[in-house]
Amino acid sequence: KARNIAIYGKGGIGKSTTSSNLSAAFSDLGLKVMQIGCDPKSDSTNNLRGGKSIPSVLDALRSRKRIEIEDIVHDGFNGIKCIEAGGPEPGVGCAGRGIITAIELLKQKNVFEEFKPDIVIYDVLGDVVCGGFSIPIREGVAEQVYTVASSDFMAIYAANNLFKGIRKYANSGGALFSGIIANSMNQPIQKDIINDFAKHTQTTVAGYVPRSLDVTRSELRGQTVIEHAPDSEQAELYRELARSILNNDQKYVPAPLESDDLKVWAESWSDTLLRNRENEEKIKTTE
Ligand code: ADP
Ligand code: SF4
Ligand code: MG
Repeated sequence: KARNIAIYGKGGIGKSTTSSNLSAAFSDLGLKVMQIGCDPKSDSTNNLRGGKSIPSVLDALRSRKRIEIEDIVHDGFNGIKCIEAGGPEPGVGCAGRGIITAIELLKQKNVFEEFKPDIVIYDVLGDVVCGGFSIPIREGVAEQVYTVASSDFMAIYAANNLFKGIRKYANSGGALFSGIIANSMNQPIQKDIINDFAKHTQTTVAGYVPRSLDVTRSELRGQTVIEHAPDSEQAELYRELARSILNNDQKYVPAPLESDDLKVWAESWSDTLLRNRENEEKIKTTE
């Protein structure tokens, strides 16, 4: 049976970058990989396909032509099966429902039986503040949920909301949480912030990924770091993350912070950052 993983997180935080580098790393390990973009932006798999986008499942449905598997499943780097669920026509319909419609079609077309993937990554937009984007959690699309977050408060806020969504459906067969993927970690204090947030929400950190120009450079070629800069440190970090995700069987209900507690937590970190800065300045003036 395939392992189904959903990756959530705030827009622009690095879900698609992380997902496609993980897919590439998994395929390098010899696994059959499928990546399903569930963001109406439909750009999840671009870096697996030389920067080119593919027609989405919802687009195919709207075309009203008979749909063949080749219309919706496209080969990417190393034979990774790339799918974009797509989005509703702007201004019409629910994006979350659209994801389910797309997944239903994949099942109807026996896409999973045909390709027998070892691992399926769902790259899902949203902070789960709406019912639509929590559908993949509710409907048992994935068993393990990860979130990409940085130490920025908005990313942490979104992760905390995701935890609330998971907690809400945990007792009725919803997906469970498996870890935070800490992205854009360049300074030790950013790791401290994420680690402390994990501690306060009884969650775990699956891995740390720095912000790297190797990612930028590869993206400009429409590629993952695994493909474009396989010998770079960043590529090795993604491979390491892929291995730890493969070995991670943890699934649990997180303990999100209530709004007031999240505010208190954030303010205490603001104080810590200020103190750190003052200390640094003191050190500078005594030098
Ligand atoms: P999302 O899918 O969450 O909306 P993307 O994966 O598209 O976010 O990332 C948004 C931008 O941030 C992209 O241009 C991407 O290259 C950049 N980015 C994400 N993670 C990193 C990283 N670790 N190092 C450098 N750039 C990154
Ligand atoms: Fe959009 Fe969410 Fe409302 Fe669906 S439930 S229409 S995804 S805001
Ligand atoms: Mg994306």
